[in-house]
This record gives sequence, C-alpha cells and structure tokens, in this order.
Amino acid sequence: MNKRIRKLFFLLIVFNIIIFISCSSKVFAREVSDDINGIDDSQYPGMKQAIQTLQASHPNWKFKVEYTNLLWEEVINAEHQGHSTSTSPSNLSPADNAKYAGLWICEICGTQRYDTGSWYCASKEALEYMMDPRNSLNETDLFQFMQLSVFDDFDGETVKNNLNNIKPDWIDEECVDAIIEAAGQYKVDPYYILAKLLEEQSPTSPLFTGKGYNGSYEGFYNLFNVRATANNREGVILNGLAHAASQGWNTKRLSILGGVSVLANGYINQEQDTLYYQKYDVIGDSKYEHQYQQNILGAQNAGTYLKKYCTNEGNYSFIIPLYKNMPVQACPRPNVSQTHAENNTEGTMGDINGDNQVNVIDVVLLINYINGESQVAPERVFATKISGNDNISVIDVVMLINYINGEATIPNNTVKTGTVNTTTRLRLSQNGTEYKTVTSGTSIKILKKADTPVADVYWDLVVASNGNYGYIPRNYYQ
Ligand SMILES: [Zn+2]
Repeated sequence: MNKRIRKLFFLLIVFNIIIFISCSSKVFAREVSDDINGIDDSQYPGMKQAIQTLQASHPNWKFKVEYTNLLWEEVINAEHQGHSTSTSPSNLSPADNAKYAGLWICEICGTQRYDTGSWYCASKEALEYMMDPRNSLNETDLFQFMQLSVFDDFDGETVKNNLNNIKPDWIDEECVDAIIEAAGQYKVDPYYILAKLLEEQSPTSPLFTGKGYNGSYEGFYNLFNVRATANNREGVILNGLAHAASQGWNTKRLSILGGVSVLANGYINQEQDTLYYQKYDVIGDSKYEHQYQQNILGAQNAGTYLKKYCTNEGNYSFIIPLYKNMPVQACPRPNVSQTHAENNTEGTMGDINGDNQVNVIDVVLLINYINGESQVAPERVFATKISGNDNISVIDVVMLINYINGEATIPNNTVKTGTVNTTTRLRLSQNGTEYKTVTSGTSIKILKKADTPVADVYWDLVVASNGNYGYIPRNYYQ
C-alpha cells in the first residue's frame, strides 16, 4: 500500500502547457533503438548477449534499448533520497523479512520504519541490484520492461474469458468488466491492469472492500491506491479513502476507471510506459521525481503477474534502459547476513576486535586488516576509520598508537555532523549533476569524506536532515 502519486495535480495542470510547448520545440527526444547487435559491449557490458539470448528464444518478441545517457552512479544517488521521517524515502524494502535483511536495509536509516510500518528504507546496494537491467534480463523478470502503450484493438469476449481463467476468486465480475472497459477507453493492456490491481490489493484491504475504515468513508473504493501515502498504516488507508471520496469513486468500476486514467495520463502517456519506468523515473525532463510506488520490488512483482498472461506468440515490445559507466559485472544481490558498518554508531573507535578495550592487539589487527591478512567483523569496520577517511591506511595505525600512548585523542565514532554555510545544490557525483537543494543552516551528516579533490574541490558525501543525499564541497559546511 506504499503508493506515491506525486505531482499528479501539477502534471495535469501543466499537461496542456507541455503539449503547447512541444508544438513549437522539441521538449525531449528519446533515443530508442532496436539495433541490439549494435550495442557497444565495452560501454554497456553484458547487455547485448543477455538480450540476444532472450531474442533467440522468443522470435516474436521485439526488443529495444533506450540510451538514457545517464551515469549509473548518478542514477543510483538520485534514487537514494529521502532518508528522513519528515519526507519518507524514495525506495522502501519489506521489513521483518529474512529475504530482505542485512545489506538490503538502508545504511543511513537502519531499521527506522516507514509507510504502514512494514517497510524499511532500501539500501544503495538494494537499489543497484534492483535497477541493474542485467539482473532482470531473464524469463522471470523481463516483463517489467514490457511496453504498456503498444496496444491493438482487442476482442472483449476473449479477454474476458482469459481474465476469468487467471484471476483469483476475489476479483469479481464488476472488476473484470471494468478492466476491459478501462483498457478500451485508455488503450492500456488489460492484463497489465489486472497485474497492477493484484499487486496493489488484497481481498481484505479497506481500499478494496468498500466497508470504509473505523466508520469513515464507507462505500468508497481506491483499487489502485492512488494517493494512499503516509508514514503509518492508518494514514495510508485514510489518505487513500479520502482521495476516493474526493473523486466520487463509490463503485469498484469507477475506482478502476479512475485509477487506469491516472496510470494512462500520468505515466504511460508521459513516456513512463513500462513497469520499470513507472517505478524508476529515468526518462523525460523531470527525472527521478515521478514514481508510481516506493516499493523497490514493485516493478518486478507486477512484471511477474504480467508474465503469467503472456505467450510466446504474443507481439510484445520490451524497452531496456542503458546507463553509462556501469560495473562490468551485474550488481550482486545484497547479502542478507551482513550489516552495514555505518549503522553501528555504538562502541569505541579503535576497538577492532570488540572486546571493549583499545590496546596493542587492536593495533596488530588493524595492520593485518590493512595488509589484507585478516578480516574485521562487519559491525566493527567503523572502528577502523580512526582518521575519518574511508580508505584505511597507516595514518589510522599511527593515530591509534598515539591514542594508546596517551599522546592523542580519537573520535568517538565515525558519524560526523556539520552545518551547511552556503545554500547550494547537492551533486549526484563528485563535481557532477546538481540535484537537491540544501539551504544554509541545514544540519548534515557526513557519510564519506573525499580523499582526493575533483576539479580542485573536496566533494564529501552527505545526507541532510531533510533526507536529501549527495555531494557537497567541503568548504560549504562547517
Ligand atoms: Zn535511508
């Protein structure tokens, strides 16, 4: 139930203006190509072969790639936003779930709960894994790239029979008829509508039953959870029902027609025409701001539903995004049995083995760690960063020895804070694209200090108190 239909009003208001502008000048040109063989393997490692393998098994399916011209690092940092209870993160992963434990959990927010309370902020590793297209170029996960705007006229009776065969019992005839009606009216794939509905709803959800919530909003439906966003379960439900009431969605049919209208006008016709693009807003002018859901698994889950209804013979089109400067190997699945060292702000710096003492044993362990001769437990890694730099080196050893000899002090832990002294925009990479604004006086946490300058500036990775995340020049805070 973690929906975010941001900026929808804004979009609807500016819609006419956008159309007007696009008559006179090109707002945005997409670089989509069906020349899979022409993909430069050195620039986009692993993409060509994975797509060609799928192509060979499914000759009827059309595969296209989209050259986003975006840097992978910047895409991830732009998506990794909102680490604050006052904003709610852009990406959430399931809480209390062993499959999404450990490195799936945000290195900044830790186990802070969001939305209905069943969600954690997703880590950078989780984002990298889920967003890396190479991890989804397989028979199971491919359907999040299926183009939803490519849709020919369909035979309503056939589709109705198919939907009846595949739907669960709690999706009633009113829903099926409304799905077909909405598909025809908005030129959206009916199987996608069912997939989306199943991803959004459960038979007992107050947004589906029409029974209201605690005596309020009885008789209203919001089957696609439009605007059902808050930081607790009750808020999610009440906001969703209030929106249904404001829209007059007093039948499931009206809720489906209204919800599909949002999907069609707000997303599919705005070039967010795959499940992946609806989740990850990497296309168009105002990037990263217009996502359908926070659930990091959302696109993949809906794609799995969609796949059930697709056949080898179908004429489907898939659009796969290409990013620049991706790692040679696909980003790995986050390890569930490791934890982020940054989460652990307790304990003593220099106490490498965690025995609550700082002594010569720790010096030896630190030297061995630097030489690659021994490991440090993940929850103790913070204790090695004595100088505050990310690269552990002989400087840390010297500081530790001086500390033990009583000749110097060392910080209590790695988390350092500061205050912005010049209003600026955080960058998505060192000296890279400007993104979120931080105003003078904002308090920040310094996550990673730069070891070397870029363009004569030390760019430190920080998170601001309002959850904004990115790089700031070191002399812009104190
Ligand atoms: Zn976070």
